[in-house]
Amino acid sequence: MTKILKVSQLGKSYSSGSRQLTVLNDISFDVSSGATFSIVGPSGSGKTTLLGLCAGLDKADTGTVELCGKALESLDEDQRALLRNEEVGFIFQDFQLLPTLTALENVSVPLELQGSKEASTRAMELLDKVGLGDRVHHYPSQLSGGEQQRVALARAFSTKPSILFADEPTGNLDEETGEKVIKLLFELNKEAGTTLVIVTHDLELAKRTQQVLRLKGGKVLSNETNPIS
Ligand code: ADP
Repeated sequence: MTKILKVSQLGKSYSSGSRQLTVLNDISFDVSSGATFSIVGPSGSGKTTLLGLCAGLDKADTGTVELCGKALESLDEDQRALLRNEEVGFIFQDFQLLPTLTALENVSVPLELQGSKEASTRAMELLDKVGLGDRVHHYPSQLSGGEQQRVALARAFSTKPSILFADEPTGNLDEETGEKVIKLLFELNKEAGTTLVIVTHDLELAKRTQQVLRLKGGKVLSNETNPIS
């Protein structure tokens, strides 16, 4: 099975005043292409930091990340941005929609960056798919949390990424809306073969993914295949 993500001996520290805070220590794992993978662990265990390093949003201090066949540490910022735009989707816990753009414009942006001539039409289709066909001209401030998350999802899907990183995709949503978002994520995995890497507090959600990486205090506690997935 091809590995779309290979993480080896990753380490990351932040300086806090005169002290160095080690957030990730000797993290190694890999993710097969097309798999569903979750990262769980207590608050502060380094999950968000790890996701950012895997997606090339930030740089590790030690170790290596190979994403879609490319060693991230050998790429400059422009090359990493290009890889992210072509192959990677990212869903942030706080959505990170652009507040001055409508839902339609938010979803169109990555498509326009890719040079798509039909960005608007495709964005409209995607918003329809996530059930927001009647909200396309709304601004983020005019949308509920669940609706904003679905716009974020449509934006992340828009470029048909090979791999999608989602940071607590249901963290800010009620149970019913969260379930809708999860269904959409798994649908994308099934229909388009997009690899999912999900950071979550929700152990029920983690159980539905094929592999679960447990972190504690910045270290890998376990990396197990789910029997029921
Ligand atoms: P989790 O997602 O598991 O809650 P995080 O990766 O967000 O954990 O954070 C892990 C640790 O790293 C926390 O102690 C947090 O305070 C610290 N941390 C995260 N980002 C920064 C930063 N930019 N500067 C300093 N410390 C940070």
